[in-house]
Amino acid sequence: MSLLKKKVLVIGLGKSGLSVSRWLTGEGAEVTVSEMKEQSVIDNHLVNEILELGVKLETGGHKQATFLNSDMIVVSPGIPLDLEPLATSRRKGIPVLGEMELAGRLIDIPLVAITGTNGKSTTTSLLGAMIKNAGFRVFVGGNIGTPLMDYVTGEQSAEFAVVEVSSFQLDTIEKFCPTVSLLLNISPDHLDRYPNYEAYVQSKLKIFQNQGPGQYAVLNDEDEVLSQLDLSRGISVLRYGMRKKKNRHAFIEGKKMIVFLPGMEQQEFDIERYRLPGKHNLENLMAGVLAGLVLKIEPTIIQNTIEHFTSLSHRLELVRRISGVTFYNDSKATNVNAALSSINSFDRPVILIAGGRHKGGDYSPLADAARDRVRKAVLLGESKNILAKAFEGLIPFTLAGNMTDAVSQAFSSAEKNDVVLLAPACSSFDMFSDYGQRGTVFREAVERLRDGG
Ligand code: ADP
Repeated sequence: MSLLKKKVLVIGLGKSGLSVSRWLTGEGAEVTVSEMKEQSVIDNHLVNEILELGVKLETGGHKQATFLNSDMIVVSPGIPLDLEPLATSRRKGIPVLGEMELAGRLIDIPLVAITGTNGKSTTTSLLGAMIKNAGFRVFVGGNIGTPLMDYVTGEQSAEFAVVEVSSFQLDTIEKFCPTVSLLLNISPDHLDRYPNYEAYVQSKLKIFQNQGPGQYAVLNDEDEVLSQLDLSRGISVLRYGMRKKKNRHAFIEGKKMIVFLPGMEQQEFDIERYRLPGKHNLENLMAGVLAGLVLKIEPTIIQNTIEHFTSLSHRLELVRRISGVTFYNDSKATNVNAALSSINSFDRPVILIAGGRHKGGDYSPLADAARDRVRKAVLLGESKNILAKAFEGLIPFTLAGNMTDAVSQAFSSAEKNDVVLLAPACSSFDMFSDYGQRGTVFREAVERLRDGG
């Protein structure tokens, strides 16, 4: 469809909104950006760039009339679809698309899309590194940082695109159809944005909805929902799990990862020198390796990537060892399951620092499953009292007013050989700009601790 002179509304002025506006103006559309925030709190650089494109900018709220006057609406990933003017526009039949959907229609290189409640960024980077090590040009982006639309508006010189996709991005897809889709796991998250857990699960499963013969789905066979999932329509399904099982294409045996791909000889990869800790990171690795083999990356290159790939920041990152206590920053553990896999990565007692913005959902599975491993919890942020209720009688806890306080309480409760772990099980937006800032503030507080203190 030609967009020449069409009125297109972009909702949300962030990296994605800017990128979409850049493309739309290039197509001759008349673009308006609608942003909830007041202009005074928006990054100047974004405002200047958008105005330079000749886009009309409406800030400080959404105007129903602008929505209803549009031929098409493009939403940024953070925008709730039940936003009133948006819901009304959809009811009136105005097409509403997400940035990922739009960008996906405009690229002609093999696309790998990675989703799941946890492990998306790690697996996306790992696969990106594998492809790069093989000497191919690869675009790595999506929810992890650079919008896919930036690739569309850029030089377009990659041979593969690997994108991290959030459930919010999947909510606005229609034809989005990756060559390879990875669904790593599903557990309760973002229940403040979905009517119920089932709706969140359905959103994740949308990643496969347009795939068919010649395309691949990589699934975690240990996941309750995914192990039961029957994807027909001729999609090649590849399953992985920690133990060998019929129908599994990858599993772990001692220090080896064994992989069987249909039509290929059995491959063995040595995982002894894989640096990422925890069972969850072995799952991420299996998913990444299966996708790498589908893309015909040489096994020697895969082996080399396994040995050299390092953790991303704020994901189970070793901060410091002091007076026999080791501090880990897993600020990115923003839901119950992530915090749990983080705690389970240690065979030593853990002093857990948790809490932040509550996203709905229940913390009792965390308290239940972690009670034998967590010596004590220090709870902070908006959700501290909700967490306290769930921990009551299961895990001893204290409450903290800020991160410095939490770190010093944790340190004074720790015994030699313990781990102090920041794994909040909540988002960071109550006290910090994002998980990165939260992790940095934690790190700085740990660095200020004095030996023997
Ligand atoms: P995402 O992009 O999905 O948030 P990340 O790779 O950034 O995932 O990892 C975020 C956190 O989730 C990690 O720090 C870790 O605590 C946890 N995690 C990572 N991979 C997994 C997994 N496969 N299963 C469960 N938890 C995981």
